[in-house]
Amino acid sequence: MNSSLYIHIPFCKRLCGYCDFFKSVALVHKPDVLVRLAEEMAERAPMLEATTLKTIYFGGGTPTVCTPEELGSLLDCAARTFDCSEVEEVTVEANPDDLTEEYLRGLRAIGVNRLSIGIQSFRDKDLELMNRRHTAAEAIESVERARKAGFDNISIDLIYGLPDATLADWEQNVRKAIALGVEHISAYHLTIEERTRFGKQGIVTAPEELSDKEYSLLCDLLREAGYDHYEISNFSLPSRRSRHNSAYWKGTPYLGLGPGAHSFDGERTRSWNRASIKEYLEGAQPEQELLTATERYEEYIMVSLRTREGVNLRELAEQFGTARTEHFRAHARRWIESGVLLQNDDTIFFSESEWLISDSVIVDLF
Ligand code: SF4
Repeated sequence: MNSSLYIHIPFCKRLCGYCDFFKSVALVHKPDVLVRLAEEMAERAPMLEATTLKTIYFGGGTPTVCTPEELGSLLDCAARTFDCSEVEEVTVEANPDDLTEEYLRGLRAIGVNRLSIGIQSFRDKDLELMNRRHTAAEAIESVERARKAGFDNISIDLIYGLPDATLADWEQNVRKAIALGVEHISAYHLTIEERTRFGKQGIVTAPEELSDKEYSLLCDLLREAGYDHYEISNFSLPSRRSRHNSAYWKGTPYLGLGPGAHSFDGERTRSWNRASIKEYLEGAQPEQELLTATERYEEYIMVSLRTREGVNLRELAEQFGTARTEHFRAHARRWIESGVLLQNDDTIFFSESEWLISDSVIVDLF
């Protein structure tokens, strides 16, 4: 059975105004967390016993606050701990201003073959508002440097629904991403969480009507440029989908290491580390829950409908039985009749133009 490894580096040099991920600017704890990550890998190795690791993903936080040697030593640990003979994808999330020529060479040398660069916008005004560490020019240069260093699988993140940005501004952002020729684009709508700086300052997202237009424009421009819209927020050039995220969506087992990281055994058990560096360093054990059959079914529907492949009715029946499949088919019917969902043989999936309203439709399907 295939599996994936996620390693959470919970540190950032500076905090972005919108960010609700678990992270800390107390870099003083970084050496201890790196030691603990290696220990945790050894302790939790049995979870991936008898599996073959296919993807490794360093997320955060900002993994590029670590030197390539520090990340490389975690990869060495993984090679000693798991069956890494068939690893296909090793991704590092990166901040543009960390990607110097030397740093990129270092990442290549330790076996990293995919970058996910947090660009967010090519407009300096947006970047200042978000308190990002880089400028638009630095974002572009980082992609160009990564190319020169030999990376041929580069993903960038963009955010839409930003306050004060017009549709024309967003179009420029998307066109710049296309011009850079990146293999993968993840585009997320800005969400405002109360506990973030944006939440406390009362910053609001763009009006819904504008956000909808931004999403449609994104889909249109990327389709014309040859990108495959394979998940609600993800687009890739041929054969450049994120294998790591695709594995999550297919329900394969993954082990998540580090404070706040989640894991799934591929069957019924979900576990997570508490989001606290202090407790993590004290050796706190992950909490866990056993998913009920209904929870697994609902998660399957929700995750599948976020992908272009949608729900496969045969697979649904095999995994969850005929009664649930008939329930799903019956509830999906009126959405198929209204064109929100589409059916192709045994699969039911969202029409691209209706993907943005998927949450409310999915609730109805349950
Ligand atoms: S968006 Fe990324 S870089 Fe910014 S604070 Fe969050 S984790 Fe750190």
